[in-house]
Amino acid sequence: MNRVEGERGVCRLGLPEIASLNVSKVTESVTITFLGCCFRCIYCNAYRLSQYPCVGWFYKGFLDLEQLVSEISNLIDSNLANKVKVSSVSFTGGEPIIHWPFVEQLIKTFKKDGMKIGLATNGFSSERTWHRVLEECDWINFEVKAFDDEVHKVITGAPVEPILRNLSQLITRARNKIRVVRTVVIPGINDGQIGKIASYIADLDETVPYKIIAFRPNFILYFHPGPSSRLMGKLAKVARSKGLKDVSCSSWYPFRAPKSVTRREMREYVSEEAKLAAKYLILAGCKNHPRECGTCRLVNHCPAMLWEPWDLQSKVK
Ligand code: SF4
Ligand code: SF4
Repeated sequence: MNRVEGERGVCRLGLPEIASLNVSKVTESVTITFLGCCFRCIYCNAYRLSQYPCVGWFYKGFLDLEQLVSEISNLIDSNLANKVKVSSVSFTGGEPIIHWPFVEQLIKTFKKDGMKIGLATNGFSSERTWHRVLEECDWINFEVKAFDDEVHKVITGAPVEPILRNLSQLITRARNKIRVVRTVVIPGINDGQIGKIASYIADLDETVPYKIIAFRPNFILYFHPGPSSRLMGKLAKVARSKGLKDVSCSSWYPFRAPKSVTRREMREYVSEEAKLAAKYLILAGCKNHPRECGTCRLVNHCPAMLWEPWDLQSKVK
């Protein structure tokens, strides 16, 4: 399909368009977030960019290679990047593989500068493209949505066979490049798939890190509830029972502010409503109580601006 000439596939995109460039502390990388995706997952938490251009939001758009390289290089040289010790350039989306020839050109440039290359992907590509992906990337986050074709199709709109084939090749040919294989758990829709995915991975290599992440209501599943911590714990056990040695889980819902937040700052609040909100703020790092951002000396480097919201959960026993 010639997208440059105006032909369109499932992703509906022409030129590779960029949603944002940012520095990521978690992956110690400069991250390039592409618009568009070859899937239409019903739970997508990034649907306003993965389903672009149909969603009516507008972004940074197309940057030619030279301009994009210059913007990424500026970010790599920034104080923030220095502070988080950026050592890689990573690609996410949407789905970066739909822009692979363009991504490859970026990779060539930044590899020459000694940067590592990271990729977050749904793993949907031809075998030929996947070989190139495995060749070029230094680390990969791979998301499997379901094991059974029917369930995979109804969640994503696409068949599961290429995903399982590519996952198998990733594990058998490039095990050292796997940062994590993960599945977002949607209660009643794919929780029964976790054991099957875990078995598939364990049969190939039981040391592969597998992470299950709780779904949060979003997009077409906006009114569907997320999983409880109990269900997540049970599913982690199921995954381990299939032989996997490294299983983790996060972001269960609902998350409750713990009773254990009894710090001195809580005395600054009277009502139960304010106390509850303050617990979340304290966990996130807010230092100024009672809270007032307008008069806070930390306003320009606020510690409560979390890098990742799920950090909250790790602070709670
Ligand atoms: S593969 Fe990821 S980015 Fe694409 S629609 Fe699904 S959840 Fe969204
Ligand atoms: S700027 Fe940050 S630390 Fe200061 S009051 Fe606001 S949230 Fe709290």
